[in-house]
Amino acid sequence: MKVAIVGGGLTGMVAAYRLLQNGHEVTIFEKNEQVGGLLSGFKINGTYLEKAYHHIFTTDTEILNLIEELGLSDKLQWYPDKTAVYFEHQLYSFSGPKDLLTFGAIGFADRVRTGMVGLWLQKDNNWKKYKAIPAYQWMKKWNGKAAYQVIWEPLLKGKFHNYYQHVSMAWLWARIHTRGNSNGMLGYMTGGFQQLIERLEIEIKKLGGEVKTKTFIKDFDKLKKAYDKVLMTGPVKGVTYIGAVEVIFTSKQSLSPYYWHNINDPHSPFLALIQHTNLVGTKEYKGEHVYYLGTYVPHEHHLFQAEEEKVKKEFFMYLSKIFPEFKEKEVTQSFVFKLANAQHIVTTDYQVPSYETVEKNIYQANFAQIFPEDRGTNFAVREGNKIAQIIRE
Ligand SMILES: Cc1cc2nc3c(=O)[nH]c(=O)nc-3n(C[C@H](O)[C@H](O)[C@H](O)COP(=O)(O)OP(=O)(O)OC[C@H]3O[C@@H](n4cnc5c(N)ncnc54)[C@H](O)[C@@H]3O)c2cc1C
Repeated sequence: MKVAIVGGGLTGMVAAYRLLQNGHEVTIFEKNEQVGGLLSGFKINGTYLEKAYHHIFTTDTEILNLIEELGLSDKLQWYPDKTAVYFEHQLYSFSGPKDLLTFGAIGFADRVRTGMVGLWLQKDNNWKKYKAIPAYQWMKKWNGKAAYQVIWEPLLKGKFHNYYQHVSMAWLWARIHTRGNSNGMLGYMTGGFQQLIERLEIEIKKLGGEVKTKTFIKDFDKLKKAYDKVLMTGPVKGVTYIGAVEVIFTSKQSLSPYYWHNINDPHSPFLALIQHTNLVGTKEYKGEHVYYLGTYVPHEHHLFQAEEEKVKKEFFMYLSKIFPEFKEKEVTQSFVFKLANAQHIVTTDYQVPSYETVEKNIYQANFAQIFPEDRGTNFAVREGNKIAQIIRE
């Protein structure tokens, strides 16, 4: 069979690899200069770094198996999660149940209640009953207004913006369930996840596959004529996506003892501050600290539309409110990345798109099919494996 794959993100790359292993002919068409999609990296101080922060969990068995299969296990390191919440000018450690019990932003009874709700969601395996319920309503009811407003509303608003009231509780169930059942360690590939993409590209080419970058596919009819089957891995028609805006910078300054910071303040232009080097160390980055300031916004939002310098200015101004010691003149490099289709909106009536399309021999696989789990690299590998199997049948 001759198969065309549109999109060289992780899903497309894995699907191509599996089809080639089964003796089919595969060509990947990727519109960008490099393959990797949302996982792709760029060089910073000589080392690959993802354009959007990435780590994996110990429960991510699909990607862990792939890393092992490709002989890259020695690059994968595990680190203890160090999360904090920024609320009303204060940073609170927020890495586990002990931190929740001392989380002074809400009263003691609310902390206990939040812990109990978390435990309930962690133990409950039946996500389907949450599907039709808006996450904000369920969380407000069971956690109480104070905990909802301090902890959960900023997360929902930050991730889904003006769509947050439509998001299904099944999505939040999955997020809490998965994290609660992993062991609090976060995995990162020393030297960047781009190495996984590069290794896949090498294996694909070794097996006779073709990778055509800088090739935007507009006209699917031509592909349909030239190939037996076509797989599209880009955005799915009918699904709403929002974008992500990331400011990355390097500095000798270390601002925080934590890796991940949820910025639970409605005035902040960014949802998360990630001091990447507090997870993985500064060795790979010539001794400098690497930071991400990231948020999700609809495409029409001013941050998505604004020039890069304006985005940096707005983010850095707010960063100096959180850390008054932050000195912009100490920033050695800074970058802005805008990722157009970064997150699908998983509403209470969300219909998971099918793999088959209305047209015979045309298939689609995209993270829009990931539900109720939060889309992630582990599921991209799972979807890539699965769609290759479907195409083969
Ligand atoms: C801000 C952010 C943080 C994240 N953090 C994590 C994390 O910590 N851990 C984790 O596991 N996951 C994380 N993810 C999710 C993870 O990156 C994605 O789930 C995964 O990379 C999706 O892969 P994909 O191949 O399905 O989609 P994509 O990566 O979107 O790939 C689709 C590809 O298709 C190409 N394409 C689309 N249309 C066309 C066309 N017409 N012609 C040619 N090419 C086309 C695109 O350019 C793209 O390369 C994060 C994502 C974001 C945005």
